[in-house]
Formats: sequence, structure tokens, C-alpha cells
Amino acid sequence: MKLTAAAISLFALTTAASAQDDPGMMAAMETITADGIRADIETLASPAFEGRAPGGIGEEMTVNFIAGQFAEVGISPGIDGSFMQPFALAEFRPDDGGELTVNGPDGAVAMSLADDYVLYAGDHVEEINMDASRIVIGGFGIRAEEQNWDDYAGVDLTGATVIIFRGDPGTATGDDALFGGIALSPHGTMDMKNRLAADLGAAAVLLVHTEESAGYPWETLSSGGASGVQYSLADADHPDLTLFAHISEPAARRLLDAAGEDYDAIREAAATPGFVAIETNLAASGHMSGAVSRTMTRNVVGMIEGREAPDECIVYSAHWDHMGINPNAPTDDHLFNGALDNATGTSMLISIARAYAALPEPPRRSVYFFATAAEERGLFGAKHFVANPPCELRNIVGDLNMDAHFPYADSWTAMIVPGFGTNELMVELAEVTTRYGRELADDPNPAAGGFYRSDHYPFIAAGVPGLYAVGAPTDVQAGEEPFIGEGFGWYMANGYHHAADEVDMPATWRLGGVAEDARIYFELGWRLSNSDAWPNFTEGTPWRGLRDEMRAD
Ligand SMILES: [Zn+2]
Repeated sequence: MKLTAAAISLFALTTAASAQDDPGMMAAMETITADGIRADIETLASPAFEGRAPGGIGEEMTVNFIAGQFAEVGISPGIDGSFMQPFALAEFRPDDGGELTVNGPDGAVAMSLADDYVLYAGDHVEEINMDASRIVIGGFGIRAEEQNWDDYAGVDLTGATVIIFRGDPGTATGDDALFGGIALSPHGTMDMKNRLAADLGAAAVLLVHTEESAGYPWETLSSGGASGVQYSLADADHPDLTLFAHISEPAARRLLDAAGEDYDAIREAAATPGFVAIETNLAASGHMSGAVSRTMTRNVVGMIEGREAPDECIVYSAHWDHMGINPNAPTDDHLFNGALDNATGTSMLISIARAYAALPEPPRRSVYFFATAAEERGLFGAKHFVANPPCELRNIVGDLNMDAHFPYADSWTAMIVPGFGTNELMVELAEVTTRYGRELADDPNPAAGGFYRSDHYPFIAAGVPGLYAVGAPTDVQAGEEPFIGEGFGWYMANGYHHAADEVDMPATWRLGGVAEDARIYFELGWRLSNSDAWPNFTEGTPWRGLRDEMRAD
């Protein structure tokens, strides 16, 4: 979905205040600087913070640092007098990468760990064994009544292993009539597919990875950042798969070949209405072992109470956690510093909180500063917050989320907004970024579903507008500043969820653009917190009805 300039003026919200006319606000904004953000990133990404995994020393150092920064400038605790919102995770610490084998009529199909698959425990028990589970080709693995679509119609999934393609029929074909076309629909998310398969009794899902459908290369999964200790929300009230695996496209082709099927033909059929899952003569077996425990982790939440409408609130979020240390990582460096992902966003959050504290008076509405836990493991901190919100969901004006902002320019000329046009926070953002001379653009690869992969999404799924926007270059700027392309290229190949995500990689960072992102977020939230506007979802999105119902008196 794209917002045209005409649509923007049509939907423009009237916010009460203008930043330039408010010297107190402008002075507070001046406190947000590249140097300030750099200092906090260096702290959070230092080896002493051990890659900020849930539980343990890394978490202790991280949450105390963030809460300490909040307290120092007079931000109030956000959860019943405390900065901490603890919740339990079920932890599985695998002994090794595990083993997955597939047998067909002609014997075993060659499958090797890391090259062909990356395996995860579904059930968190010490010994996980799956024996000769029959393999079903599940297409995109979707059941969607409103699309009259059911990949599992009449198919018994009990005990089965399902091969599923990433994406949905819309992203695969670009057909706007199917699941909203090229942008990934909620049905296309991994979460929804795994949940559905588990609910139908499946034992395992083998998700076919392609760089195009995932948005990142296979090496991102096989380099150890995505494996290591695994977590799920403790006390979840739904069945789990026994095993889950990402499999590479070449491996998927071999499997379908062994089943006597044609990969390309099946992928095409799977995107065509009427597709139904196909039984094969293959069977999958798998094994993982590890230590099981319960880990407590903590969201960090600070707040400023609104001076006129304290029950209404704006939420800023950024995840403090990263991948920690993975002794099984195939590289020499086992410590995943998470400097860009997401010490950048966490440092922006801290800087924005300081700026609010520097305002001459609190804004009209309350503002929450929410450093989320366990985002990397499945957005668990944000999900817990949304299920246990300190400010009623109907009264949350919006969630402004920051995750992995790019340290490659002194200033940006554009901003990427995944899910652009799906809610009116984005209209409000457009008003702010005009002043910075920035163009707004949708995610360049909306089929990969970046929109669903950070902490604004649990808010959106619950019917609260959310936004994630990150500074980026226009084509002109990218042409003029080669440092940007080099930075992005390095990050996608070697930085994202790799141990090498460290400060000043691949070269000395330029954080001016990140500071500008933080100022834009500050101004956006400040406008919303001083207005009485209720930005809504765009008509026709899956979330509009939820919000309307929630806001109806
Ligand atoms: Zn992140």
C-alpha cells in the first residue's frame, strides 16, 4: 500500500503543537546528539554486556544500565513503582545443532547440518526424538477463511512433518487479489504458519528459505546467530511442534526430487487457489538434546505522567536484547555484540527519554519508554507487555518502535517505513519528516515481511497502531556517498545476526543520521503526546475493525 501526497493531505491529522514554535521543545531536542548516542551504544555493545541474552550477567548489566539512565534524569518507574516488568521464558540449551534425516523409497536423502538445515526444539524437553514422521508438502501452509483458502483441506496432519514455503500466494505472484499482493500478509508470517501446523497436530515444520522470501541470505541462519540457546514464552496455552527447521532451497529441491515431485511446479501450484497439501513417500526423523530450564527476563519500563490526560499514552519501544554468546557458533568470535541490532535503538530510546525529561513541563498525555526483552527470540517482551499493559490498550495512542538504525551517514534523505500506509501514525510521521527534507518509502522488499519482525507488531496485532521507521538514503544520496552502500552491503552479508555486529564495523560509524532519526521520533511522539488525536488503521487493513471496536465507548 502506498500513500500518495493527496492521500496524506486528505488524512492529515490536526495536531495541537508545532515544534518550531516551542523553544522549550527545541531546547530539549538539542540534547539528542550523535556523541550521546555513541557513548550509550559503546556501553551496551561492550563485551562486558555479553551480547545481552536473556538471563545471566548480560541481562543484569543491561537492564540496570537502562533503568539507571532513566532514574538519573527523573523518568519515573513505569510498572507499579518499578522499572522492571519480569516474565518467564522456557529455555532450551542444546548440546549441539541436532540431527535431521529424511528417508525416501531410494534410501536416505543427503541432508547436512548448517549447509542444508538449522534445527530448533519445539517441545522444550531434554531429549527430543521424532521417528519416521511422514512428510506432507503444505504449500504456503495457510488457512484463511476470508480468502477462501485452505492448504490443509481434508488432510490429516497428525504426527506429520510439513514442508512449507515462506511468504504467501500474494508475495509469490504479486496478484493483488491474493492476500493483498506483494506485501506479506499476517497469514504469511512464520508465527502463524507454525501455530496452525501445531494446532492441527503436526510434529514438525521444514520452512523453505530463499533469500528473496526471507530478506536475508542462508548464511544468516547457518552462522550461529540464530541457533544457540532457544526460548519460548513459558506457560503458553497452545501445542508446540516437536521440531522446527529452516531448510535451504537446494535441500528442498532434493527432498521434492526424492519424492518424485517437481519443485518449481509445486511452488507455482501452491500459489494457485485450490491448492491442497500433498502426501509424499518421504519420512523425517530428528533428534535434539539439551538442558531445559526456566529463565526470568525483564522488560525495562520508564514513564512520564501526562499533565492533562495521564491515562492516555504514547509508547516508545526498542529491544535491549540480542543473541548473547553461542559456544557452538562456527566462527572464532562467539560473542554477538549486537551493536547495530539493537544497541542503536536502545540508545535512541535512552536519548529520547532524556529529552522528555528536559522539557519545561510534561506533555499532555503520558509517555512510556519501553526497552523490550527477548525480541530476538520471538518478540516475547512486547507480547508480554501487550498482554499486561501499564496503560490500557484502548488508551495507547501508538507504539513508536526503534530497531537497528543505520550508522552510515551524517544525515539521511529518506526513511523506510515497513507497512507504509497501513495506519495514520505514518501520516503524522510524514508531517515531521518533511521538515527534515526526508522522503518516506515503503520497505523495498515488503514480501519478506520486515513489518512483522519487530516490537511494533504485537501492538498492531492487538489493535494498537504501531510504527517502525528507519533512516535511509535516496538513490541520489546513495550515489554520492559510497560509504552507505558499503555499510549496508557489509551488514546484510556479515553483520546482521553475526558475531561481527560491533561498533565501527566495517569502518568508523557516522551516527549523525541515527541522532536525526531519534530527533524525528522525539518530535513525532511529542506532537502526539500534546494532541488529542487518535490515529487509526487505514480502512481495509486487517486491524481497523479491532481498533474501532476498542475505541467505541
Ligand atoms: Zn533487532
